[in-house]
Amino acid sequence: MLSVVIPAYNEEQMLPRAVKVLDELLTSQQIPYEMIFVDDGSKDHTWDEICEAHRNNEHVRGIHFSRNFGKEAAIFAGLSESRGDCSAVIDCDLQHPPGTLVEMYRLWEKGYEVVEGSKRTRGKESAAHRAATGIFYRIMSRAVKIDMTHASDFKLLDRKAVESILEMPERNAFFRAMSAWIGFRHASVEFDVQEREAGESKWSTRRLISYAVSNIVGYSTAPMQFVTGAGIVVFVLAVVLGIQTLVRYCTGHAVEGFTTVILLILLIGSVIMFSLGIIGYYIARIYEEVKGRPKYIISRKI
Ligand code: UDP
Ligand code: MG
Repeated sequence: MLSVVIPAYNEEQMLPRAVKVLDELLTSQQIPYEMIFVDDGSKDHTWDEICEAHRNNEHVRGIHFSRNFGKEAAIFAGLSESRGDCSAVIDCDLQHPPGTLVEMYRLWEKGYEVVEGSKRTRGKESAAHRAATGIFYRIMSRAVKIDMTHASDFKLLDRKAVESILEMPERNAFFRAMSAWIGFRHASVEFDVQEREAGESKWSTRRLISYAVSNIVGYSTAPMQFVTGAGIVVFVLAVVLGIQTLVRYCTGHAVEGFTTVILLILLIGSVIMFSLGIIGYYIARIYEEVKGRPKYIISRKI
């Protein structure tokens, strides 16, 4: 059986369409399935729609979070509820073409254990957004040592892969990177990101930036190495300037006045503050993980 995990946050408009499209497609392809909708603490009638879909179709199941925990948490909750031999994750807004899901399933039948959906085109995005995601994925790709520039959350995982992802204890999970990190027999399928038909994107620029920062800190120690790098640069400058100052002092031409001192203090001060900030992000992450709170809280299930 195929378990389809569908995170949904304020998707009352798209949810009935998603149920209909997926049901028709999977039935016509004779793929046994269950659909697990994870209502990520929606403020609209998403939960009612899930209940309604459940009444009409016994393959539909639902989980309701006590508040909004984010898409990553929703994916994890769906995966841990899934009972299929393989589980797929797909967006509720049908931006991930359901036809590709069938392609993924066929690859799984051929023995692939992790089938990744890879974005051929990214759909409508601003130039700034494109540039920022470019930098983000370059850092992430280096951190997990796998090219992630076309990564998406649209994936199909074998039971074994699902289990190994669920076993990872970290609270601040990044599904895209984890599925690449676990290994297994990989295959990827290209798809074009579709236009959203109704409702709106839940990702504000601010939310995306904080998501990016938390994932970089979660998977890469590159920013920490930047601190070391900055330290080395400042040290080299210090040696050069130190020698020059001494020579000038000995030859009786010592620089006088505050300007040099002020510039140096400002420069070194900002390098130190910046470095402390970076280390602070890591400490915050450690603190979050050590608290060991659950990733999500489920309030209702059907
Ligand atoms: N989503 C979620 N929780 C959130 C934000 C989004 O479960 O806090 C779901 C949303 O319902 C959708 C998917 O994640 O099924 C992708 O969200 P969206 O379409 O807003 O993102 P975009 O396609 O713009 O990247
Ligand atoms: Mg979307």
